[in-house]
Amino acid sequence: MNDNSSVGSGDPGRVRDRAFVRIGVLALQGAFREHRAALERSGAVVVEVRRPEHLVGLEGLVIPGGESSTIVKLMRSYGLDSAITAFAAAGGAVWGTCAGAIVVATHIDAFPDQPRLGLIDVAVARNAYGRQVASFEAAVAVVGWDQPFRAVFIRAPRITSIGPGVEVLARHAGDPVAVTSGTITATVFHPELGGDDRWHAAFVQRCADVAQARGSVAPST
Ligand code: GLN
Repeated sequence: MNDNSSVGSGDPGRVRDRAFVRIGVLALQGAFREHRAALERSGAVVVEVRRPEHLVGLEGLVIPGGESSTIVKLMRSYGLDSAITAFAAAGGAVWGTCAGAIVVATHIDAFPDQPRLGLIDVAVARNAYGRQVASFEAAVAVVGWDQPFRAVFIRAPRITSIGPGVEVLARHAGDPVAVTSGTITATVFHPELGGDDRWHAAFVQRCADVAQARGSVAPST
């Protein structure tokens, strides 16, 4: 499940499966349009999720960047917090990016009472990359990828600690900036900006694996 070696290249059979993968993008606030475009370029059928019923039939969900406290507030008012928790518990893949990484974390430093989904055992500090460098780009090496990824950090959270089952996929200046555990992924940068769709392709592949495990996609012959 955590094997990213097929990212980028991918064999044709696996790519064919992607046409059957349905992925939601939480569309309450923030950078959801760019995620939609990158997922579609990567072969997924994309659904904008604004209500719990929109999660039905999806293999994966992206929680985009934006403002984490606003996203969670809106999520709660539509009952999407419990719906997404149930979606993840049923094996759906969830990927939180930037503010979305804060939403999926178990702990938020200095904001212990900010509601969150607690889907991946990490602690994050909001807006932690310093006042004068609130936004920057950096090339990060990613586990299993030949070429580094040019990551855009916009008032990004810092991952300050990770639990035992959490795998680090990329680091910047020693800190984890992309982590995964089971079917949950968190990236603190904005992978939808910059035109490099490798993270989206990897998520589509992960969702194809979810679909295949559930038997909702016939294996390639
Ligand atoms: N600083 C924002 C927050 O705390 C996240 C920024 C982003 O998503 N680009 O929610």
